[in-house]
Amino acid sequence: MSDIKVTQVKHMAFAVNDVDATLTTYKRLLGVSPDVEVTEFAKSRNRVAVFDLGGVEYQLSQSMDPDGRFATWIRERGGEGLHHICYAVDDIDAALAEAQAQGATLKECSACKVTGSHVHPEGWVAFLEQDAGGIEIEFMQVYTAEQLEQYKNVKGI
Ligand SMILES: [Zn+2]
Repeated sequence: MSDIKVTQVKHMAFAVNDVDATLTTYKRLLGVSPDVEVTEFAKSRNRVAVFDLGGVEYQLSQSMDPDGRFATWIRERGGEGLHHICYAVDDIDAALAEAQAQGATLKECSACKVTGSHVHPEGWVAFLEQDAGGIEIEFMQVYTAEQLEQYKNVKGI
């Protein structure tokens, strides 16, 4: 038994080769708004399309460099796919302590080069070395409105 309580799927991140082409498919076949655009994140060197689909946030992520996080993953895995799921928890420190008590180890954030809980634009996040059925695990404690004000200038993702 584990005391980890996931409150929400915060987002699902997909590693893609061509975010523009993939986004076009989502617009054409899945009714994603034509207004959704691709954003370049200079810090993590990714081009990302973010949108809500069926109540879940999707992130279509393309590396800007051949040795980037998502490009490397696609090459090693042999194709595009679901790269990670970000799970919202009420208390990330408690969730990480419980995960570690269950034998998990923490993984470095490839964008920030930080291992364990650290600030991101929307909340504190951390990654696990262990995957769940091939899907990387990210936890996020989403900021309250007050915390969001405090951390709104954090550059991400
Ligand atoms: Zn990070």
